[in-house]
Amino acid sequence: LLSCTDVRKVFGDHVVLDDLSLDVAEHEVVALIGASGSGKSTLLRCVNLLAEIDDGTIRLDGEEITDPRINADLVRRKIGLVFQSYNLFPHMTVLDNITLAPTRVHRRAADETRAQAMTWLERLGLADKARTYPDRLSGGQQQRVAIVRALVNSPRLLLLDEVTSALDPELVGEVLTMIRDLKSEGMTMVLATHEMGFAKQVADRVAFLHAGKVLEQGPPEQVLGDPTEPRTRQFLSRII
Ligand code: ATP
Ligand code: MG
Repeated sequence: LLSCTDVRKVFGDHVVLDDLSLDVAEHEVVALIGASGSGKSTLLRCVNLLAEIDDGTIRLDGEEITDPRINADLVRRKIGLVFQSYNLFPHMTVLDNITLAPTRVHRRAADETRAQAMTWLERLGLADKARTYPDRLSGGQQQRVAIVRALVNSPRLLLLDEVTSALDPELVGEVLTMIRDLKSEGMTMVLATHEMGFAKQVADRVAFLHAGKVLEQGPPEQVLGDPTEPRTRQFLSRII
């Protein structure tokens, strides 16, 4: 579904992504791990076309989305991105927060978008919060609303950047459950995380980023439990 080939991203003279390649199959969940500054967020931003790559190609469904002639807005509708800080508008209800971008930016019919938003809220156990304002919700609920906001465009791919790291430990579980539900519905996801337990529980594959490349990847049990690369071992021993 997603294919990153020899992706290079440079800030000044700092090479953040150094001919990095990563493929993600449809329905697959891939966790990106690696030290702070290893380029996890940068990679997600490049895939979402929020940052321009300096070399290489990124393909979605075989289409080269990094081709400069592509319509970036159309691509972003197919690729949802959710950040650590969920940034809901405080003066708007949950439902309005979710439907604002699709109806304003993409000029989609408001009724259709609201219906779709309600369907997702129901599926994810948040339907009773539709008319609530964000300050009445827990951090976990707010983050789940932010994820629903990314789902109303029916994306092909969902990118999640540290979606649990701003949450109190007891709220991480509900976001985790939601991601599991999405996985069981077949959603393809790439998530950056510092929490190895989280990676282990939701990912089909873990990719360790180091020095601008995917240094090691494989099933969570292998990469997290019995890594091949000394660098991966070193990284894991430091965080556990
Ligand atoms: P963390 O685990 O802390 O979230 P990360 O793996 O997500 O880290 P990135 O945020 O992708 O790392 O950053 C990778 C490197 O790129 C860092 O050295 C960072 O300082 C640099 N960087 C990121 N964005 C920019 C920018 N807009 N301008 C200059 N440098 C940047
Ligand atoms: Mg990051």
